[in-house]
Amino acid sequence: LDGPGRTADGRRVELLANVADGADARAAAEAGAEGVGLFRTEVCFLGRTVEPTVDEQVAAYREVLAAFPGRKVVVRTLDAGADKPLPFVTPDAEPNPALGVRGLRTARRHPDVLDRQLTAVARAAEAEAADVWVMAPMIATPDEAESFVALCADHGLATAGVMIEVPAAALGARWVLARAAFASIGTNDLTQYTMAADREVSDLARLSTAWQPTVLALVGATGSGAALNGRPLGVCGEAAADPVLAPVLVGLGVTSLSMTPRALPDVAAVLAATTSEECEELAFLALQQPTPDAARAAVRARLPVLDELGL
Ligand code: PEP
Ligand code: MG
Repeated sequence: LDGPGRTADGRRVELLANVADGADARAAAEAGAEGVGLFRTEVCFLGRTVEPTVDEQVAAYREVLAAFPGRKVVVRTLDAGADKPLPFVTPDAEPNPALGVRGLRTARRHPDVLDRQLTAVARAAEAEAADVWVMAPMIATPDEAESFVALCADHGLATAGVMIEVPAAALGARWVLARAAFASIGTNDLTQYTMAADREVSDLARLSTAWQPTVLALVGATGSGAALNGRPLGVCGEAAADPVLAPVLVGLGVTSLSMTPRALPDVAAVLAATTSEECEELAFLALQQPTPDAARAAVRARLPVLDELGL
């Protein structure tokens, strides 16, 4: 990876990493990531039956922040529930956990847990030199965004945003983004909830792709809402690691991509060979297709750089 992410005509697209702990963060820095676009804090505490103490949390968060002094690190608050159960916050025996009390929704019954987590994030931020952004998972409404941002402000965390993972939040992005400093699209969950297809069920893999033109339309709706409010917009689901999809996402209004570090060089190379005008044309083309396969084929046919790179 060679320097900051850019399109061929110089539009900046930050290329960030998804991490779950300090070791991941150090490897991401080594791989040349510009920062962290998704720190999955719940992964530090999976399997724990009791809440980690504030001191334990501060130590875990500091390890990640320490790998990126002066760089952006987006810390996601606990995304508990469904595929990531945390017994100390998620209710057991919910009939339908993916549609249940998960992500930020757990904070209604356990406001103290979120409060302590934000205290720990603020302390870690104070002790390290990273530029700390905080975001909440599973936001569905503008009110949820507003109350989360206010809570972060109470903790001295000034850059607070939301994940867009629910179709309602994507369609309502202009109201959600009026209240939040930034958004990051979780295409894994956004696809799951758009297609009504459990992301864990391999029989449904055919449905579970962000190349679904309807999922791309929701990314586009989010892009419009972000642009209207002048807000940065990331993608941090698996889709961000697809070098064929990256220019489409940029054309839909995405300003940063966060992925597994090994995907960074290919995504950077494709973007560097594509102008922002071409990204917009590719986005338009993908949205015109009726199926994921047709969308992918149409985009691929317009990106000879993929063959040159052996992708
Ligand atoms: C997503 O849903 O796309 C996302 C990045 O969050 P997670 O995969 O951790 O649910
Ligand atoms: Mg998610």
